Amino acid sequence: MTRIGFIGLGNMGLPMARNLCKAGFAVRGYDVMEAARARAAAAGLELVEELDRAVADAELVLTMLPAGPQVREVYLGAGGILDNAAQDALLVDCSTIDVETAREVHERARSQGFPMLDAPVSGGVAGAEAASLTFMVGGEAEAFERGRPILEKMGKAVIHAGPAGTGQAAKICNNMMLGIQMISVCEAFALADGLGLSADKLFEISARSSGQCWSLTSYCPVPGPVPSAPSNREYRPGFTAAMMLKDLRLAQQSAAAAGVATPLGAEACQLYALFAAAGKEGLDFSAIIKMIAGKL
Ligand code: NAD
Repeated sequence: MTRIGFIGLGNMGLPMARNLCKAGFAVRGYDVMEAARARAAAAGLELVEELDRAVADAELVLTMLPAGPQVREVYLGAGGILDNAAQDALLVDCSTIDVETAREVHERARSQGFPMLDAPVSGGVAGAEAASLTFMVGGEAEAFERGRPILEKMGKAVIHAGPAGTGQAAKICNNMMLGIQMISVCEAFALADGLGLSADKLFEISARSSGQCWSLTSYCPVPGPVPSAPSNREYRPGFTAAMMLKDLRLAQQSAAAAGVATPLGAEACQLYALFAAAGKEGLDFSAIIKMIAGKL
């Protein structure tokens, strides 16, 4: 039975770890936060009190942490994963972080003999619970083939993006598209309202026209047309505006580092920063329609 050390048992990590248990892997979990450990214990996960005990005899170590600084600390810090992992363990970071940190951690892991993958996900908490995530994976082909059967137990699509860091690159490119698209859909509904066109009619028409996109037909920011969308439950997330802002900032950071112009990505980032500054960062990211329609 493959032994897995799982570090970071938050909103995403816990349901992912549970799916690995359900699939028959021997999972040992660790989280720095007592409340997260208590939730994981209540969910029946085997827990340890120290990180080294989660990784020492694991064949695969998986991390699901908030952002780059935590990933750096957990992998590279004293007493971290690189100090404690078993020889030849495969290291897989599923957190969404900046490409530069992902490449640096990958390089340090490789220099100590550990194969590593960056494998951020799309699909949110619902996807983590339903084992229907999309994994975008960067790293060597051999490491990818080793990790794929395990990632498949948590997701419906596991795609090799290319060498180290390209999983993170795919994630921030995707979420930059999503942020821009959501704002474009919000603007269109605001304009329709000003022109006397009902939201239901705009939806009916654009869902069958060239303006169609996921933000419209799967996640409509206006209540009504898509019953499962957060707009029908007072914009409870879902995917928070804070998370969208984090990903848009990562995209801007990487765009600057790569010398690539992304003017609409920059604008979307600024709009989400304003929305967050208005105290709305805990709402679903589709709630930005309130600000765009001048109804904040
Ligand atoms: P979360 O904050 O709920 O969970 C992160 C967990 O990591 C927390 O329980 C925290 O205590 C733990 N942690 C932090 N530092 C640690 C350390 N040094 N050692 C051990 N544990 C530590 O976040 P989340 O929603 O589960 O998101 C995790 C990652 O997945 C983020 O990078 C996020 O951007 C990404 N993501 C989230 C979603 C979503 O919808 N929530 C969707 C896609 C991707």
